[in-house]
Amino acid sequence: MRPEQIDQVARLRQALDSARQVGRTIGVVPTMGALHEGHLSLVRQAKAQCGLAVATVFVNPTQFGPKEDYAQYPRTLERDMELLATARADYVFTPSVQEMYPPFDQTRVRVGGLAEGLCGASRPGHFEGVATVVSKFFNAIGPGTYFFGKKDYQQWRVIERMASDLLFPVRVVGCPIVREPDGLAMSSRNSYLSPEERAVAPRLAAALLSAQARYQAGERDLAGLIDGTRRDIEGDIPGGPSLSIEYIEVKVGTTLQAPALDVHGKLAPSDSDLVLLVAARLGATRLIDNIEL
Ligand code: AMP
Repeated sequence: MRPEQIDQVARLRQALDSARQVGRTIGVVPTMGALHEGHLSLVRQAKAQCGLAVATVFVNPTQFGPKEDYAQYPRTLERDMELLATARADYVFTPSVQEMYPPFDQTRVRVGGLAEGLCGASRPGHFEGVATVVSKFFNAIGPGTYFFGKKDYQQWRVIERMASDLLFPVRVVGCPIVREPDGLAMSSRNSYLSPEERAVAPRLAAALLSAQARYQAGERDLAGLIDGTRRDIEGDIPGGPSLSIEYIEVKVGTTLQAPALDVHGKLAPSDSDLVLLVAARLGATRLIDNIEL
């Protein structure tokens, strides 16, 4: 059955309040549309865990920088609705920009240190836009479990922090990354890649897997792990498109702080919460990926 499409906050609140009154619990999946299997896995999980699944489809202008792809971002609502029907979503919230940002809007939500490194460093204002729009969703949709992909690892951690700091009555859950058969993490932006670029893109995931294997085999030299990952991503084949690395970093998962090192630059033998995160440009497209070591 096709989910009900709602584009106004007042109507959404009415529908969800009625559902809560008859005891239903709500699972929410915020998206920017151009949906793929990664998004749908979150919706299925919301449906399975909560019974009533709400997806949002909103390309949020405040999380794009002035030179980023807000105007070109793929918008495929008709197809998104069909895919959301197959994942058994109940409601799809598709607000206009005016609905989310009322006239004279001037309030923003800014998270501290967690939002500053990694993607926060190369995309100034990005996480402020994300935190602002997600807090609006928390208020418009209300109590429930909100599902985020670990594909956007830093985003998940920033939102988890914000929900806790601002006492939102929500639960935030991080879900596994869904990949193409060749390992490339699914992303709406993969549609920007030319066939030649698409052929090179899986190197990112392959490099992460190989670093994870080295870590699990006992490699604890941080610089060695990062250099190996860099070599695997850059490759040594001359000609053709190449990945240009923006960052490769190992962080403590929950805090995104630098891990403790001993005097030889070695990671602790049994750190159980490390994540290796990368961002790279492939032509005009920016790709991110990560792996829990
Ligand atoms: P987006 O539409 O890109 O804003 O993504 C909406 C949600 O889907 C975010 O929580 C993303 O982390 C998640 N997501 C995107 N791609 C994937 C993927 N390949 N695997 C798992 N979750 C994903």
